[in-house]
Amino acid sequence: MQILSKLPQVEASIFSVMSGLARQHQAINLSQGFPNFDCDPVLKDLVNKYMQAGQNQYAPMAGVPALTAALSEKINRLYQVEYDAATEITTTAGATQALSTAITALVRAGDEVIIVEPAYDSYQPFIELCGAKAVAYELAPPDWKIDWDQFKRLITAKTKMILLNTPHNPSGVCLEADDFKQLAKLVEGTDIIILSDEVYEHMVFDGKRHQSILEHEGLRSRSLATYSFGKTLHATGWKLGYIVGDAKLMQEFRKVHQFNVFSVNTPMQYAVAEYLEVAERYESLSPFFEQKRNLFLDLIKDSRFKIIPSQGTYFQLLDYSQISSEDDVTFAKRMTIEKGIALIPVSVFYQTKQQHQVVRACFAKTDETLREAAVLLNKI
Ligand code: PMP
Ligand code: GLN
Repeated sequence: MQILSKLPQVEASIFSVMSGLARQHQAINLSQGFPNFDCDPVLKDLVNKYMQAGQNQYAPMAGVPALTAALSEKINRLYQVEYDAATEITTTAGATQALSTAITALVRAGDEVIIVEPAYDSYQPFIELCGAKAVAYELAPPDWKIDWDQFKRLITAKTKMILLNTPHNPSGVCLEADDFKQLAKLVEGTDIIILSDEVYEHMVFDGKRHQSILEHEGLRSRSLATYSFGKTLHATGWKLGYIVGDAKLMQEFRKVHQFNVFSVNTPMQYAVAEYLEVAERYESLSPFFEQKRNLFLDLIKDSRFKIIPSQGTYFQLLDYSQISSEDDVTFAKRMTIEKGIALIPVSVFYQTKQQHQVVRACFAKTDETLREAAVLLNKI
């Protein structure tokens, strides 16, 4: 039997490859983005409480009402906008399912979706599975920012969607109010939908605040935004997230969601709803990760890596051009095998495999791990 692959170019994701290599060589794993410390025991107790209380059957399709109501309040508190818990918020199996479902529901064969590269690696396959094309806007050193005049050139009659990610993985760049203003001008009068991946909304540093697409009046009615409890609650293995957006778009989203997952983990949704009652629990995240970033940068300040400032996320880009002229995949693999430290090569997040001689380190690690990693990085 011959299987005609729908994704013939796709191989194992770089996260599986690098985490696998790290395990195999007992390397310190700063590659895949996940914390190496546990989530709050209070949160685990809450899941247990709701499991014991018998909340173990299907949740309502759009989410447990206690959670969607808590999220509506949280959005209002953070961004001073009203999103209706019943019609404009849906809980998902991580942000990944939200992205996949949104693209499936809204993008058709022949459409174009503009993505910002280096891009989180699941965007392009989701777009291509719909028979659409991922059109890349390429960020580049030194500032990794979007030039909206250049961006405009990518918009055609076929552009159905623009997929943004802020704070941006892997560059750590955050969109600012002016970026959204310029974007609003570009899409005015079109039917272009914006899908905004904001999974790192609570990791923004240096006194800045996260700018959400949801708070930009000129963009709200055409936008969906996705979030991840995996990131916000240090529980990436729970694969729990949500999506927020105008009821018209959410109605289309739910047409697919009700068939591809129907609903997501019930006791965890109850637990998260109760946990979010204390706003400090998510508001303390930015200072928590800023401290980790600062510690990590301080520890490697004398290394031969050049540091590219990270404004948000739990990632740090490191330029290794003073160390090696190897391509980044070769360099990252060699560092894992020979030096015992696993990092992510950034070129894999570009369709053109751009070589900027940059690797990504995840600093969502215990201070002890960051210290151990720094010892190895300083020797390179
Ligand atoms: N978007 C970005 C930019 C990410 O880095 C990640 C990685 N976790 C996701 C989405 C997926 O989030 P989740 O684990 O909730 O599916
Ligand atoms: N988002 C995580 C990262 O960028 C990894 C998620 C995954 O393994 N798919 O490292």
